[in-house]
Amino acid sequence: MVLKTEIVQQLRRIIKPGRILTKEADLVSYGYDASFGFYKPDVVLQVKNENEVSAVMKLANQLRIPVTPRGQASSLSGGPLPVKGGMVLDFSQWSKSLKIDSEDLVAVVSPGVITADLDDAAARYGLMYPPDPGSSHFSTIGGNLAENSGGPRCLKYGVTKDYVIGLKVVTPQGEVIRTGGRTVKNVTGYDLTKLIVGSEGTLGIITEATLRLLPRPLSTQTMMLTFDHFVDSGKTVTRILTSGILPAKVEMMDQASIRAVEAYQPQNLPVDAEAILLIELDGHPAAVADEAERIRSLAKAMAARSVKIAHSSEEARKLWKARKLVSPAIASKKPTKISEDATVPRSKIAEFCHRLQEIRNTYKIDLVVFGHVGDGNLHPNIICDKRNREEMKRVQKAIEEIFHAAIDLGGTLSGEHGIGTMKRAYMPWELSPVELDMMKRIKLAWDPNNILNPSKIFPAPDRSWCCRNEPESERQTRL
Ligand SMILES: Cc1cc2nc3c(=O)[nH]c(=O)nc-3n(C[C@H](O)[C@H](O)[C@H](O)COP(=O)(O)OP(=O)(O)OC[C@H]3O[C@@H](n4cnc5c(N)ncnc54)[C@H](O)[C@@H]3O)c2cc1C
Repeated sequence: MVLKTEIVQQLRRIIKPGRILTKEADLVSYGYDASFGFYKPDVVLQVKNENEVSAVMKLANQLRIPVTPRGQASSLSGGPLPVKGGMVLDFSQWSKSLKIDSEDLVAVVSPGVITADLDDAAARYGLMYPPDPGSSHFSTIGGNLAENSGGPRCLKYGVTKDYVIGLKVVTPQGEVIRTGGRTVKNVTGYDLTKLIVGSEGTLGIITEATLRLLPRPLSTQTMMLTFDHFVDSGKTVTRILTSGILPAKVEMMDQASIRAVEAYQPQNLPVDAEAILLIELDGHPAAVADEAERIRSLAKAMAARSVKIAHSSEEARKLWKARKLVSPAIASKKPTKISEDATVPRSKIAEFCHRLQEIRNTYKIDLVVFGHVGDGNLHPNIICDKRNREEMKRVQKAIEEIFHAAIDLGGTLSGEHGIGTMKRAYMPWELSPVELDMMKRIKLAWDPNNILNPSKIFPAPDRSWCCRNEPESERQTRL
């Protein structure tokens, strides 16, 4: 085993000492993300440029030290957790470079840029960056690209991968490569850009991204539909989406989410309703007004109790604030929040809502359901206490049933949060051995020494639980 001091000395030749963190308090604070797990790194490096990343990777590859990239650690699947210890590469100190080219309709950004800052910068040119994860005010472009993040607006505009046309990437061996380019069309060779996007920091480290921008819509309209029955809200979504109208956003909050928000920061939501749908239409003002009226009559025909149309941008902002408050509101109910994002085809939304109600009753769990229902991407969240072993057994069973239900209905384990540590045990439920093997061979080709973000995505034979920390013995290095 190589001695820690020797390695830190070598790191000091690459990175200034103030940006090499080894104190216990720092290491502990880098051991978390927004998911369930905790794994402490041996050292944290606050990298500031591509040369540093490349030199660190060369050293790590030579010494076989695990490296885990980290944006703002808002991952809900354990992506930036250093499961095998080693080094965490923190991008938060990297100076944020954000260049908009309004003629090419692209932005060129560094990995630590906050997603909402990019959209704000694009707005100054009458443009927009459509992907808008709920975490857009704190998550980074690097993390968004690595997770292929989605968000409310992705219903109409597509997900992160649809906006990435070029990358600069540092490989696990420390080489710097470019993928794609600056043109919308580019079919030269294999599409390595698409391979890196969504690879959860396991194939390469993104150091620069060229992203597509779109003209900002001329107007938007927000509506709130209220339902006495949860399943009716699911049926209404399917009805709207097959009516020829494509809203920019259709988000759902079930009764538990509504009540949690009202208990946390009252927003005047109907606490006796079983569900509400928040809808945003965008486009030409005349088309938007017409579509809002059509949705109003569709919703009434589908048993909506009421339909509210926001009459000002302030009213619309308040309605969307309610949706944004769901996560903090439910997190304040109990110490542990497990956030799932099983996704089903749109025709199965109502059936999935029904199955979730059954799971809640069978396992007597505190299940809160909200999310990007227009994409079939619901976020069943389980609020629990990880110290309560009996409760956690029920929670574990419920999670498995949720995944079974989603896959049974033709859906997927993850619509946007990624697999990370949380869902790797369930990969064989969705992928065949041949499909998994193909992915493993890709990982081996990029990272033969398995140093970049190890223990993510791929199932390990003895790991069948997601609701607990994996043992310390999984660590392979102590620097
Ligand atoms: C309240 C809340 C709401 C959320 N809403 C959404 C939502 O609507 N949609 C959604 O998709 N997600 C959502 N998320 C999850 C999370 O915000 C996203 O996954 C986000 O993309 C993570 O970004 P981050 O900067 O925090 O990355 P991190 O969590 O730090 O890292 C995520 C992954 O990216 C890798 N990574 C980070 N930077 C790089 C890089 N430069 N190169 C290579 N790999 C890198 C990490 O190793 C890790 O695997 C939400 C989370 C919270 C807490």
